[in-house]
Amino acid sequence: MKFSVRLPMYLCAVTFLGCFIVPAIFGGIVRSGPLPTREQAIGDLTQETPLERAAFEEDAAFFKPIRKPDSGDWLAEQDEVGQIVEEYRLALSALKPSPEQKALYILPLGQFRSGVAPSLAKLREFSAAFFGMDTRLLGAVPLEKVPAKRRIFGTSRKLQLCTTDILQWLPGKKSRDAYSIIAVTMEDLYPDEAWNFVYGEATLHGGAGVFSFARYDPAFYGEKSNDQTSALILLRSCKVLAHETGHMFGLMHCVFFECLMNGSNHLKESDSQPIHLCPVCLRKLQLGAGFDLLKREEALLKFYEANGIKEEAAWSRRRIEKMRAAK
Ligand SMILES: [Zn+2]
Ligand SMILES: [Zn+2]
Repeated sequence: MKFSVRLPMYLCAVTFLGCFIVPAIFGGIVRSGPLPTREQAIGDLTQETPLERAAFEEDAAFFKPIRKPDSGDWLAEQDEVGQIVEEYRLALSALKPSPEQKALYILPLGQFRSGVAPSLAKLREFSAAFFGMDTRLLGAVPLEKVPAKRRIFGTSRKLQLCTTDILQWLPGKKSRDAYSIIAVTMEDLYPDEAWNFVYGEATLHGGAGVFSFARYDPAFYGEKSNDQTSALILLRSCKVLAHETGHMFGLMHCVFFECLMNGSNHLKESDSQPIHLCPVCLRKLQLGAGFDLLKREEALLKFYEANGIKEEAAWSRRRIEKMRAAK
């Protein structure tokens, strides 16, 4: 299996077509031959500690191979080659946070009203647990102070902000200790006049992204709320935050397992994907972010338990047991 890696500078726009990466234009994996196997994608684990081997090995009790896409799903329409651990490792020097880049930042744009918006404090807490990095919440910028074009769109008559303008402005809001800055908003977004909307857009270069949670609320589609709605909005918001910040760490879409880093074309598809990383993506993120595997899982378990995310809490509990047993 031959491969080479160009510095992965890519644009990832979560569009109505899903999360959009254009490796041919923006750099990425250039590999010939058949798709690597899951084992090849994980790579050699013989030099790893027993705990790392337990965390990174393929284990059917925790991970499912990626399913065949249905019509309209991301991989039914996108020809992605994936990114194996060794390819990521080759690009690592350009991806790893520098010693002074100690924190991830979240910048709210406009209002986050409780009941309809995810809790910003919880998003911060989840990001800190997921990446094992200090995550800080900046003071909200009122919408009128956001230097972006805006429009009232179509039949929804909802306000939309232009992501292109926000992405030009955001890097200037980064402090020296920031690895990335993610702006989040409850307003709808669009990248330019040709598009109906985007869920969000991010650039690796500049480590900046902007995401809207507006379309994660069933009320956006005129559906009624119930007692599960807040948990659903929080789960969806945590997933998009981790997926997109994962791209900023240089992780490309996963084509090996059912995984948080799978591309997604629509809400039903992203709802079906797990919030956890597969062994390939976990190993890459651990190389990039440098966290303690066990402490990270313990922090995630605490978050899931505190927020009623039961299925994932049970999964994390079993992972912790497996890692502790391997120590
Ligand atoms: Zn993506
Ligand atoms: Zn994965």
